Amino acid sequence: MRHRIAVIGSGPGGLTFARVLHHHGHPVTVLERDPAPDARPPGGTLDLHEGMGQLALEKAGLLTEFQELSRPEGQAMRILDTNGTVLRDWKPRPGERANPEIDRGQLRDLLLGPLDVQWGRRVTEVVPQTHAGVLVHFADGRQETFDLVIGADGAWSRVRPAISSATPHYTGVTRVETSLDDIDTRHPDLARLIGDGSVAVYGVNRALVAQRNSGGHVKVGAQFRAPLDWHTELDLADAEAVRSSLLALFDGWAAPVPDLLRHGTAFVHRPLYVLPVSHTWAHVPGVTLLGDAAHLMPPLGAGANLAMLEGAELAESIAAAPGPGDLDEAVRAFEEQMWERAGRWAKITTAGLERLVSPDPTQALAVFDEVQPS
Ligand SMILES: Cc1cc2nc3c(=O)[nH]c(=O)nc-3n(C[C@H](O)[C@H](O)[C@H](O)COP(=O)(O)OP(=O)(O)OC[C@H]3O[C@@H](n4cnc5c(N)ncnc54)[C@H](O)[C@@H]3O)c2cc1C
Repeated sequence: MRHRIAVIGSGPGGLTFARVLHHHGHPVTVLERDPAPDARPPGGTLDLHEGMGQLALEKAGLLTEFQELSRPEGQAMRILDTNGTVLRDWKPRPGERANPEIDRGQLRDLLLGPLDVQWGRRVTEVVPQTHAGVLVHFADGRQETFDLVIGADGAWSRVRPAISSATPHYTGVTRVETSLDDIDTRHPDLARLIGDGSVAVYGVNRALVAQRNSGGHVKVGAQFRAPLDWHTELDLADAEAVRSSLLALFDGWAAPVPDLLRHGTAFVHRPLYVLPVSHTWAHVPGVTLLGDAAHLMPPLGAGANLAMLEGAELAESIAAAPGPGDLDEAVRAFEEQMWERAGRWAKITTAGLERLVSPDPTQALAVFDEVQPS
């Protein structure tokens, strides 16, 4: 079997798909718009769950390497109220590996391995069911045909319009991210606050979350309910103006929590968008979606895990499909399975975000217990 298979996007989902297919000896074309693997900062650390992201890595033959790279101590989680009272201080038991953390850049490099990604290939449109196969158009004017195109191109997928009219909508919660370096030497009080893993502080309609990455690097996210245009009076490129505006928003929170913002470097605005819960589509031969392109949901620790598991499962089904007719059946079966599981998670995470960034911050503890898979 030598189908022409392309995956669009080299995020966790696309790379896991390609790596598992490669593991089974099947060729796959990976097309990524970024000009190089490190063209953008990779984002915060990810916790990979035993039955999801870790299972996907096992299917790719990469679990042992993951265990060597990941940080089980990063599972530690502290939850505070705005007065600084510690509501939860959870530390993993020795040997506990249910949800260890890994930097996104480390995960990307682990998955990349021998894969030959085509960088700088921005897809603009996918046209299914042409005479020669599925037609992929690129920003540079080129076009190529494949038997199967997988859209693993994230929230603003350019593959999705080929099979679904759904578009992401704003949740009403926005997020501004910043980061701190050399936390242990430069900000020891914040290092103690964060511990080995994460700290989250919940107030009325807002939250501050800080997450330790490797090498003393910390990612901070300020989340709050606001209209999409909350910043019209603010120059988002002016770091000092954004800092002042955030410090006003988190005014009165117990020290040293506001220092997470006071000492942050650049600020990045990321309003949280989602696709409709239980997003499905009428099956279209030759094109499918996985990960955020299929089921963008609030960031409560499931998205990358789902994308990776879906990538691994789809690759295994394709590898097991003996003939061209079986390829389409494999994709159909994959979609049914993905919709069912992602629909469940979309409901959990949507309800979770409603309660985490809410008028009643006392609900935060319960939400954490619900979203953490055992
Ligand atoms: C703040 C935050 C924290 C999170 N924390 C966690 C967590 O702890 N655990 C977890 O499981 N999930 C987490 N998530 C969710 C997770 O980041 C996403 O669900 C996950 O990255 C989705 O993977 P993906 O491969 O589907 O898409 P993406 O990671 O978005 O990758 C898409 C890729 O496609 C490329 N691309 C896009 N358009 C094109 C195009 N037109 N042509 C070619 N290439 C294109 C992009 O450059 C990118 O490389 C978090 C999300 C956020 C915002």
